[in-house]
This record gives sequence, C-alpha cells and structure tokens, in this order.
Amino acid sequence: MSVTAQKQRTLKSEPRRNDADTLALEIVEKLTYSLGKTTDAARLHDWEQATALAVRDRIIDQWLTSSRKAREEGAKRVCYLSMEFLIGRLLRDAISNLGLTEPVSEALARYGVELDLVELLEPDAALGNGGLGRLAACFMESMASVGIPAFGYGIRYVHGFFRQEIVDGAQVELPETWLDHGNPWEFERRERSFEIGFGGKVSTLEEPGKATRYVWRPAERVLAVAYDTPVIGWRGGHANTLRLWGAHPLDPILLDTFNSGDHVGALVESNKAEAITRILYPADSHQAGQELRLRQEFFFSSASLQDIIRRHLTTNESLSNLADKVSIQLNDTHPAVSVAELMRLLVDVHQMDWDEAWAVTRATFSYTNHTLLPEALETWPVQLFERLLPRQMQIIYAINAEVIRGARAERDFSGEAVSAISLIDENNGRRVRMGQIAFVGSHSVNGVSGLHTELMKETVFGDLHRLYPERIQNKTNGVTPRRWLLQSNPGLTGLISEAIGDGFRDDIEKLIELDPLAQDAGFRERFAAVKRANKERLCAQIEDRLATSIDPSAIFDIQVKRIHEYKRQFLNVIEAVALYEQIRAHPEIDWTPRVKIFAGKAAPSYAQAKEIIRLAGDVSRVINSDPAVRNLLKVVFIPNYNVSLAEIIMPAADISEQISTAGLEASGTGNMKFALNGALTIGTLDGANVEMLEHLGEENIFIFGLKAGEVAELRRNGHTGRGAIEEQPLLRSALDSIASGVFCQDEPGRYSGLVDAIRDRDWWMIAADFKAYWDTQRRLDALWGDRAHWDAIAVRNTARMGWFSSDRAIREYARDIWHTPPSA
Ligand SMILES: *Cc1c(COP(=O)(O)O)cnc(C)c1O
Repeated sequence: MSVTAQKQRTLKSEPRRNDADTLALEIVEKLTYSLGKTTDAARLHDWEQATALAVRDRIIDQWLTSSRKAREEGAKRVCYLSMEFLIGRLLRDAISNLGLTEPVSEALARYGVELDLVELLEPDAALGNGGLGRLAACFMESMASVGIPAFGYGIRYVHGFFRQEIVDGAQVELPETWLDHGNPWEFERRERSFEIGFGGKVSTLEEPGKATRYVWRPAERVLAVAYDTPVIGWRGGHANTLRLWGAHPLDPILLDTFNSGDHVGALVESNKAEAITRILYPADSHQAGQELRLRQEFFFSSASLQDIIRRHLTTNESLSNLADKVSIQLNDTHPAVSVAELMRLLVDVHQMDWDEAWAVTRATFSYTNHTLLPEALETWPVQLFERLLPRQMQIIYAINAEVIRGARAERDFSGEAVSAISLIDENNGRRVRMGQIAFVGSHSVNGVSGLHTELMKETVFGDLHRLYPERIQNKTNGVTPRRWLLQSNPGLTGLISEAIGDGFRDDIEKLIELDPLAQDAGFRERFAAVKRANKERLCAQIEDRLATSIDPSAIFDIQVKRIHEYKRQFLNVIEAVALYEQIRAHPEIDWTPRVKIFAGKAAPSYAQAKEIIRLAGDVSRVINSDPAVRNLLKVVFIPNYNVSLAEIIMPAADISEQISTAGLEASGTGNMKFALNGALTIGTLDGANVEMLEHLGEENIFIFGLKAGEVAELRRNGHTGRGAIEEQPLLRSALDSIASGVFCQDEPGRYSGLVDAIRDRDWWMIAADFKAYWDTQRRLDALWGDRAHWDAIAVRNTARMGWFSSDRAIREYARDIWHTPPSA
C-alpha cells in the first residue's frame, strides 16, 4: 500500500458521526475558520457556504476512497464527454444522498436558520441548454449511485445558459453569473493542465525503413485547466468526478507588448484564450456554426483525451489496452472531433501503428445520437476545419478513404450510397460531417428511445446502418429518482414510504408495489392531498414572481421545456384560444377550470420560437383579465425555466404536455419527471412516450394525433393546413383571432406570419393534429369530474414509472456498451 493510501486510511479511521451535534459543530467551524464569521454576524449566504463546505468534507472522504479503490483495482472507467451538464443546485442533492437531511436541518435550526432557505441561495448551475445537458447530469448521479467508476468531462463555462426575463411580453436574454460568489463544490487543479493547439502547419519526418511521421505545429496554444467537482451517489456509497476544463492563456500578459506601450494589445492573447470557455452557446436542437464553437469542441475533447492517456500511462505500459480500461461515451456529436484527435495522439504522439490505433479508437468510443432534425446535425466547412485543425483534417481524410474502400469492397457500395456515408459532404460546399465521424469511430451508436433508434436506422444513418448493421442499438433515457422524486417531492416520498416501506429509495422499480393502492380510496385521497399541497407551493411561486393568483383546485396543465416549433407550444396556445372562445360563447356549459402553465427559453436567434413566447404572453393577458371567463381558464408563462424551477413545477402538475410532432422528439425526459410525480400525460406517439404507453397501459396515458410514419407521408405529399382549417370551425376561429390581432391590438399583424405558416404549409402538423388534441383535452376535462378515477390513474403513473430511472439506463449502458460491472 502506498504511503498516501495509508494516510488516507488513517484519516478515515474514525468515521464521522451523523448527528445534529456533530454537524452543528462542523458547520460553525467552517463559518468561523473558512469564512471568518461569527454565528451572530453570519448572513444566510454565509450559512449556505458554511453548510456546503461542511457537507463537502464528507463527500471528499468518500471521493478519495472511491478513487483509490478504482485505481487499486485497475477498474475500467467510463469517461462521459459532454459539452453540457445541466446540473442545477447541488447542496440538497448532496445532503440527501448522504442521508443528512434531518441532522443538517436540525443543526441549522439551532441558530434559527432554515435549511430550505439556505438551499435557495445556491446558484443554479446551468451549464447546459435542456434535455441533453440534463441527461448528462442525471447520468453522472446515477453512475455514482450504481457504483460505476466514471469521469464526466466538459466545459467550465463562466456564463452558463442565459437568464430569461420577459419585458413587454418579449424574451430578453441576460448574462448568467453562477460563479460570482465562488463555487464551493469545485477544486481547481492547476497541476492538471494540458496545452491545446489551434491552427499552424503539419510537417512530415521521413526516416528510412519507417512510416512517415506527421508533426503538427500549432500556431496558437492555450492551456486547459481542470476544475473538479465530486459527484456523490445515493447513500454516499460511491463518488465520481465531474472534470470541467477552463481555458487560460499560456502567458497571462505579453510583457514585451505591454512595455512597448500597447497595454490593450498585451492582453489580447489572454482574452482570446479565455474566450473559449467564457460562454455556453444557447442553441438547442440547432447547430451553432461559429468558429468559437468548434474551438470549444476541440478544446475540451483534446484536454479530456490527453488526461485519459496520461492517467492510463501511469499504470499501464502502453496504450494498446486502452479500450480494456476506458470507455469513452460521446454525448452527441459535440465531442466527435475526439475520434480524429485520439488517432493523432496515438499515431503521431505515441507512435502507434495506424491500424492498431484505429482498432483501439473504435473499441474505446461509443456515441449517443440525440436528434434527427437536419438543422441540428453538426457539419463544419472543410476550409474552417482545415485552418483550425489541419492535422485532424488529414486524419479525417485518411479515415474516410478507408471507410469508403471497405464499403466498396465488402458491401458493393457505389455512387450515391458512397456519398451518403462519406465523412465529407460534397454537395453543400464541402463540409465535415460530425455524425458520420462519430459513427465510424465508435463500436456502438445508440439512440435514446425505441422509436428514435428505429428512425435513426431508416433516416440519418440509413446507409451507415447498412454498412455496419450491428452497430446501432437503443438505450432509452431515464431520470434520477433522487432529484426528481425524493428531493423535489418530499410529500409524496413520505407517503410512499408509509404505504410500501423504504425499499423504493434503493430500488425505484419497487414503486410498482403502489399499484394495488390505486384501488384504495383512502390512499388515493392522501395522494391527492400531496398533489394539492405541491400545487399550492407552485401557486405561491407564481404569485411571488408574477403577481398572478391562480386557483389550486383547477387542473394544472403544464408544458415546460425549450421553446421549439417541433415541441409545439403553439398547438397548446391555439387550444387555449379555442377554449377561451368556447367558454365565452357557451357560458351555460359546466367548464372544467384549467390553468395552462408554460415555461421555457427560446434560442436568441430563433425568431419563431420567440414569437410563440410573445403570443403566449399576449394570450394570457387577454384571457386572464376577461371577466367573462370567470377564472375558468388562466394562462401563465413563468420566466427563466431552469432545473430549480422544474423541481417545483413537476410535482405540481395534473397534466403533462408532451405533444411534439411525431418522429421529432428523440426521447424527452420532462415527460418522465412529470409522470413519476403522478401527472397524466397528454402526448403524441413520440420519443419515450411510446415506452411510457407500454409501461403505463393505454388507460393511463392520453395519446393522440398522427404517428411518425403518417407525418412523413403527409410531408411527402405536400400537406398544408388548409383542409383541416376549413373543416374545423374551432381551429379556424382561433387562428383568425390570433392572425387578426385580438390578442395584440397595438400591432394587429404581429402573428399573421405564424398563422400563414400553418395554413400554407403546416410543417409541424398543428392543423392536422388539432382536432385529436382538442378531443383528448375534453376527455381529460370529463375525467377530472370523476376524481376517484383520475387519482387512480395518477397513482398508477407513479407506480409504473420506476423503469424510467437513469439507474436502469446506466446499467444498460454498462452491460451492453461499456462492459463495466456496476458495484451497487
Ligand atoms: C428535464 C429538463 C429538460 C428536458 O425537458 P424535455 O421536456 O424532455 O424537453 C429541459 N430543461 C430542464 C431544466 C429540465 O429539467
């Protein structure tokens, strides 16, 4: 045993006690010696920092143990490369996973401090846009919980996802500043830094009898510095590392330039370096396309690979067995340049033979595809790629030649089929296709739901799938039940414990034991009472943020997610308008009171998505202030959707809106969080809704509308919205009102473009699906009148959603892709 291992063992020899006395002492010690505050002078913010530091010490104990164990056992590690980690707040997660919620709460209470309030002061770490980044965060938590040694690798953006405000109805983007008060969770590792090159030239070295060697001499270099955050699993059993790279200049200031009087010029290099990790691109399901983005992608890919190789060589003699010791998962194509960079490092730097390097590379990488939307598939102009990454471009050409040679020889590919699999798109001004690179450089390629995976085989990767028919597999997404049930819904968690015991906390699929209780009137009532309390909690938030009061006894019908045409918030708003008009036209009908709640951010450059936000705001103003509606309908748009807001919203929903145009939502994970918390889903047969239907049973989910194949067929046949609008007076009238300015009398033509797009094209099948959507909503209205039935369905949703845990997803990745045994 090494000396440090012995030292760590002695450090750990007395396990810390978990009672409130001990924790109070530890927290006050942090307050005093780390923050220099007395308990009297401490502000809530100081308590937050002190609590985080005290809890952090306990995480570190486990972190060191887990790392040592993985090292000593030579265990295979998973490296999860992701441009985004949408982690949210960590304090409550850490306290809860360590089983310290009660003692910490009690310790703070002794000083008159409320843990709930302390938790709210932590900034919400929003290093991601939406589902893809949140999946990476859920996966990190699950890998720690099931005991898979893993590193998450990403970027330490100084400014995360923008803060959204609504000003005069329109979205305004403000910079997000999560690091302003420091970050107690991270450790800067200056010693763990790597040089990352850009540009420059490639030269060759010829030695007699040896293969030509290539040497890349970059024109620019920056330093990638590691910032480590421990990720603690359930019951504190295992901890992994989230390693985010920050960019720093090699020379903080050019002294020659400064001394010659050019004070600004002396800092240009430094600013340019730091710009790489300054800001997260706010594009979701849309390719960002600028040079800085490609720099970000290469920067974190290269740093991560250099780190992986360094670690490997500390305990292994060569890189030949790299794939036995590491699995690298590429979360979407953002890190796909890793395929070329690993080849460069193996062949050019470590002098591995090309064929062996290619075998090692493919055995090491696997790739997760997240979207079929053509506008989201990453490609880069060859010219830009070549200028920024000249050696990697050469390698891509070489890989391409080999793939194409194989395709011609082994599978008789020719003509069109060859250009379809080519890594270079020759049709649109020569572009490098990152999806193709990720595919050919991986031994496994996965989609994120059954339907999405099948569509991948037929569409984007149709030809590559013919060439490599074994490579594509499915791994349906999941969400961590710790954050999305235990922490966000303590009321329901307590009720479930009373009903079936605590086993579900360790194995979420035990929730199925609740299923028979759907028949138990007493249980249903208690379940409904918890929902009611969660709705009141959301009401208070809405009152607080928007000064709008809503009635917790109405149906809470909620759609929260990125604003995108394919997600069809517009369909939902049109339904609100149609319902509004019906309520006005038929006051005699016994309408079911409903609150429609929206939240979500639009990409700043996405004009239509921003219009939809504006429309939702305009519609809400008119409906909410119309006395003829008698509070039977309200529409609310809550600004600045993020993980923390989601944690309050999900438990409060009666209806979850998952209404994307079929074939376009790869999986969805919002759908899972809602259903786990007992909301009823209204949705299309899209993404993981399909599997939810299978697990829930068709009586317990409300599916409507066109199927993926029907959407594709209508699009092929030049469908427009005209026919459907003609046939449906409700739809026609709602669209007329929107187009003619009923909701925006100051600028009546504001939404005529949005409406024209439905009439003339209806690309997103809003008109085509409207009737089915409307009818299904009215079925839900009727069901609300039969509360016993509604509540029984809600209970069954919670009971049957256990399979959608990210623990299950991670175990499948471990078994079928990484070949790493979980230890818990
Ligand atoms: C879960 C989650 C998402 C993903 O939602 P979808 O409905 O699957 O698109 C996006 N943002 C946040 C903050 C989330 O928590």
